Order: sequence, then C-alpha cells, then structure tokens
Amino acid sequence: MLHIGCHLSSSNGFEAMGKTALSIGADTFQFFTRNPRGGRAKEIDPQDAARLLTLMKEHHFAPIIAHAPYTLNPASADAKTRDFALMTFADDLKRMEYVPGNLYNFHPGSHVGQGIDKGIELIIHTLNEILDPKQHTTVLLETMAGKGSEIGSRFDELKRIIDGVTHNELLGVCLDTCHVNDAGYSLVKLDETLTQFDKQVGLPLLKALHINDSLNPLGSHKDRHAPIGQGTIGTQTLANVINHPALKHLPFCLETPNNLDGYAREIKLLRGLYRE
Ligand code: FE
Ligand code: FE
Ligand code: ZN
Repeated sequence: MLHIGCHLSSSNGFEAMGKTALSIGADTFQFFTRNPRGGRAKEIDPQDAARLLTLMKEHHFAPIIAHAPYTLNPASADAKTRDFALMTFADDLKRMEYVPGNLYNFHPGSHVGQGIDKGIELIIHTLNEILDPKQHTTVLLETMAGKGSEIGSRFDELKRIIDGVTHNELLGVCLDTCHVNDAGYSLVKLDETLTQFDKQVGLPLLKALHINDSLNPLGSHKDRHAPIGQGTIGTQTLANVINHPALKHLPFCLETPNNLDGYAREIKLLRGLYRE
C-alpha cells in the first residue's frame, strides 16, 4: 500500500484537511503549523483534532506531517531570531499533542556565515531545549538543497545534529527528493545514495519523504520544486524511489507547484506506478 499525500492548506482546521486528503486519493498530508513566515498560530479546537484522528483511523492514514515555518532559523547569529525559533517550535510541539503519534518536520537552519560547526551547535541547543521525553511527536530534520548557508544538505551534518541531542530517540529525518538532487546526491544511483544515508545516518531514522521533481540539475544547490515528470529527476526515477524496498512503506508527501486537481493527478500517477 502506497502512502501518499500532498501539502494542504490548514486554514479550515484539521478535519477539513483530512476530508480534502480523502477527496484527492491521499492517505497522508502535510500542513504548515502557522503562516509559513512565522507569526501567531490559530487556536486549536480539540474536537476538530479528535475528528481528524477518527477519520485517519477509519481510512488507515499514514502519519501526517506538520511543517514548521520555513523562515525560522535556530542557527541564526541573532539571539532574538533564535529565541523566536525556539518559542515557535515549543508552541508547535505543544499543539501537536492534540494529534499525537504524528511527525513535525523542520529545516535545520542556515548558519549565515558563522560556519557549519557553530550552526550545528546552535541547532543542537534549540532541540535540547524543546524536546520533551513525554511528547508523542517525532521531530524530523529535512534534508536540504544547500542553498546559501543551509545546514543539512550533507547527510553527515544531519547525523552530527542528531548525535548532539540528548533525547534523540525523538528525532528522525525527512528526505526531500528535490533537495537531495540539488545537494548532489543522485537518485538515478538510488542504491548508492541510500547506502550512504544508511552508513552516515541510519535508514531506520528515515520516517518520511517529500516527493518532488527539481527544476535544476544534480548538485545545483537551488531548491526549486517541479511537478512530477517536469523536472530533471523525472517520473521513472521518482517511481523507483516510491518502490525501493527500503522506502516503499514510508509516507510520501508531494510539495510540487500544483492546485488540488494537479495533486490528485500526481497521486493517481504515482499510485499507478507503485508495485504492491
Ligand atoms: Fe520543507
Ligand atoms: Fe521539502
Ligand atoms: Zn524545497
């Protein structure tokens, strides 16, 4: 069974996202916890959250992914910016307890000239502050394209962060196909890339994938997503990703430039290419 979904708007609440997912043939989805630029989050309606959990159970959903605002930077050189990231993460994780057992994905951060070592140290510090051994959410570090001073475009950088965190049993990784391509890891040589991931991070830590084509070539460090089959990765290579024995049980989430109809078509396309 292929678990696949896409990024959805959270503006109408939890249950609405579940229903939208069903209407486009999805059995997982991703949403921003608040405006992607940060700012205040809407109050959670506990009954709305409970209704989503019921819907997910009835329809055998895979875990869903909450995405942190992508502008937050726990590796910033500015203490106020780091504090803001920390408070937002902590608040998001508190809110995720209304939908326990799911995933919270974030971009590790950009070191903005301080260097990778300093950036990693700051990210570890933030994670050690916000992770609570009593929480029911797995926090995922996303593999990055390596645009600007982004941390996490190399697998060993993710591993160094994970190793530095006290409660790293609460951590995992989300592999974004556009990002790893742009970072220079070949998806054509998928076995090689996954072997490298396994050696440097460990395949059991991989909890979800973002399935995107890329507008740019291998190693371009750009991060521009393309619809499936309209980028440099291509449909066949992405079909190999969803069918790989080490990956095929994981939730896949589309973040391609699309409206709902486009997402429904891509979900149908990928379901058609999946081998049970
Ligand atoms: Fe992301
Ligand atoms: Fe992504
Ligand atoms: Zn991206």
